[in-house]
Amino acid sequence: MPDARYNPWQHAQAQLEPVIERLGIEPGLARVLRTPRRELTVAVPFKRDDGSIELAIGHRVQHSTALGPAKGGIRYHPDVSLDEVRALAMWMSWKCAVAGLPYGGGKGGITIDPKQLSAAEKERLTRRYTAEIAPIIGPREDVPAPDVNTDAQVMAWFADTYAFKVGRYEPAVVTGKPVDLGGSLGRNEATARGLVEVTRALAPKFGLELEGARVAIQGFGNAGMIAAQLLGGIGAKIVATSDSSGGTFNARGLDVAALVRHKGKGHAVSAFSGGEKIGNAQVLETECELLVPAALENQITAANAPRLRCRMVSEAANGPTTPEADAILDERGIPVVPDILANAGGVTVSYFEWVQGLEGESWSEEDVNRRLREKIVPAGERVAARAQADKTSLRTAAWCLAVDRVAKAIRTRGIFP
Ligand code: NAD
Repeated sequence: MPDARYNPWQHAQAQLEPVIERLGIEPGLARVLRTPRRELTVAVPFKRDDGSIELAIGHRVQHSTALGPAKGGIRYHPDVSLDEVRALAMWMSWKCAVAGLPYGGGKGGITIDPKQLSAAEKERLTRRYTAEIAPIIGPREDVPAPDVNTDAQVMAWFADTYAFKVGRYEPAVVTGKPVDLGGSLGRNEATARGLVEVTRALAPKFGLELEGARVAIQGFGNAGMIAAQLLGGIGAKIVATSDSSGGTFNARGLDVAALVRHKGKGHAVSAFSGGEKIGNAQVLETECELLVPAALENQITAANAPRLRCRMVSEAANGPTTPEADAILDERGIPVVPDILANAGGVTVSYFEWVQGLEGESWSEEDVNRRLREKIVPAGERVAARAQADKTSLRTAAWCLAVDRVAKAIRTRGIFP
């Protein structure tokens, strides 16, 4: 159940304020950084299979375009709100900046439970939403991608609808497309791969090695499931994981391949016979070396942060740790690889896909994975070096680097007119 008192936009603002202060950013520019550049809310009517008309509310927010086109995913979820989309858009600005990409930050979402829709209904919803936000979208303006409950098929519908608006197929208008339509090899695994690469590079600085480490992963979707596979592949032991139905635990290590097959048949993680059924809260509190929240925001809070039994956290999800919980983890000496760094592999390979789309190129998977490592590991090193120099957490260091980069871009471009 979502916590009605939790507001992701307040969460994002509470993270930004101390950074503005630390960087000594002037008040006028601070207001620019706090405020989304552009917000569009649209009614999305669509026909159900029985012919009746349904209406959903959708949003697209462009937080910043100072460094380049807005970039960020589209989420279909019953809890989507304008404030959530604003927060996710702002986090995208900092993520692109920390990863060194020529992008601003954006995000979109529709308040709907897609599990209640047939594929045809989801297609009509997607096409109408695309048409409604099309005036502010484009390869050089704002480039969407998948997020929670949206996938390559949704991006294909998006790109096709956009093609009818402009009169030609523009692959660079969205990323996360099917490979046959100009999607990049390696995009599907990119978020998890980036997380594993950067966490593996930073862990030794905190006296940890991922090889042989026990790992708990909350969420077994695109990010969580592939992280489990990749971590298993380098010798880590996945001891607990979960989906929205609950979790499963095995002290000897879960058989990830069997769990992937189980999930592929449409079964809930909690019904997996290779583990003991546990609750979602227990997954977060599992004794392990590495905890990977890979579900939604607001999972590690002031209530459970004192009970975490991990030695390190690496955030696949966006905003899983509240600012209060962050302070507790900092005090407890548990390093957190922050979302804007840990999950930046996804947008990094989205950037590669966009470049390939603009150039009419297609890179090999090996090439994509190498380029990803060459971007994300140095980004991690820059964050770790800043954290050490400033004697701050990885999160504060990442935010300082990112906000500083965007602030400098705005100052240098100047305020129009
Ligand atoms: P997804 O929809 O593929 O998977 C989400 C998973 O979380 C599912 O297994 C779902 O059952 C589970 N879940 C939902 N609520 C839960 C709860 N309360 N407790 C436990 N599990 C729960 O989505 P995804 O693409 O893997 O995204 C997960 C997170 O990673 C999101 O925060 C998203 O913004 C972030 N992220 C994803 C990408 C990407 O490329 N996919 C990139 C960057 C960040």
